[in-house]
Amino acid sequence: MIDYRSLTRKELEDLAGNMGLPAYRGRQVFKWLWRPGLSGFHEITDLPSGLRNVFAQKGRIARLKVATEQKSVDGTIKLGLGLDDGLMIECVVIPEKDHLTLCLSTQVGCAMGCSFCYTARMGFLRNLEASEIAGQVIAVMERLGLEERPRNLVFMGMGEPLANYENLTRAVQILTDELGLNYSGRRITVSTSGLAPEMLRLGQDLDVGLAISLHAPDDEIRQEIMPINRRYPISALINACKSYPIKPRRRITFEYLLLQGINDRMEQARGLARLLRGIPAKINLIPFNESPGLSFKAPSEEDVLAFQKVLTDAGYTAIIRKSKGQDIAAACGQLNTMPLLHTRGRCINTNTA
Ligand code: SAH
Ligand code: SF4
Repeated sequence: MIDYRSLTRKELEDLAGNMGLPAYRGRQVFKWLWRPGLSGFHEITDLPSGLRNVFAQKGRIARLKVATEQKSVDGTIKLGLGLDDGLMIECVVIPEKDHLTLCLSTQVGCAMGCSFCYTARMGFLRNLEASEIAGQVIAVMERLGLEERPRNLVFMGMGEPLANYENLTRAVQILTDELGLNYSGRRITVSTSGLAPEMLRLGQDLDVGLAISLHAPDDEIRQEIMPINRRYPISALINACKSYPIKPRRRITFEYLLLQGINDRMEQARGLARLLRGIPAKINLIPFNESPGLSFKAPSEEDVLAFQKVLTDAGYTAIIRKSKGQDIAAACGQLNTMPLLHTRGRCINTNTA
């Protein structure tokens, strides 16, 4: 069965060609697939009924099932979404002043094993298909009855986006297609733990914002908390950033998670300022969010402000990111669907770190 929602417009046009149809039939189907509320081919009324049946027999319209919905006191909403094989992911809708930001997942779990991250505790179960990545936008719109799509998309949910490169880029192509969800690349940010070769590929293939989870200015600290640093040390990341094609007036975002007593000293703030010199950078400081079984501590507010001051004094834009949705475990690094899988009677063996 073809998973139509995993196909780009071009692929659907080619598929139509292979079926002996003109390319515009593929285009027509593509356009309908990305309208929220579509329940089946029978609704594609500008397609002759014979063709609707042919499409319906050859493939399926993948759909994420909303299994849970939690709302935080600050308005953040976390949805638990069921996949066709019974696994679950989470995505988070974050209300900003005058718009919504949607935080998307790209994998079920994550293989990167960062020691501060609750998603890592699930281990890695599988990559999401393009339909399951882009489909989160449709699922959210349908569930919340949104007339307009969320303004910003951030790939900061479960998983390492660049470890699922093919499906991520396919999903972004669908999301940015004017007949798809018509997002501008400027409204999309991909966050990575630092897969240097894929960062460069991303820069060549797509025009989206890049965020790097740096979290330390030197290899010694970084590899303590992020095993991926052994494969791609900080020098590799910085080189990749220097070759990354950045449009005028745009910047690379550096995420810096603050862990009390580990990477929150003035020495590290100064090291970070030195390290990023010459790179058009914006720094997001994220105080650690707690999760069961993680023994790190968030730094004091005073230390966070002092850290920020070193960076702003050095001329950087450094924002302290107030994590939203902590009361429903929807903040950065708190997503984990293992409890949901267990309560649903599925018990899965994982390589839990
Ligand atoms: N895998 C990607 C994107 C998802 S994580 C990445 O790591 O970049 C989104 C952000 O949340 C990353 O910067 C990550 O390091 C951060 N994060 C993970 N655990 C956290 C925690 N416990 N508290 C605060 N931020 C955390
Ligand atoms: Fe994976 Fe990102 Fe969590 Fe690291 S921080 S384990 S890369 S989701």
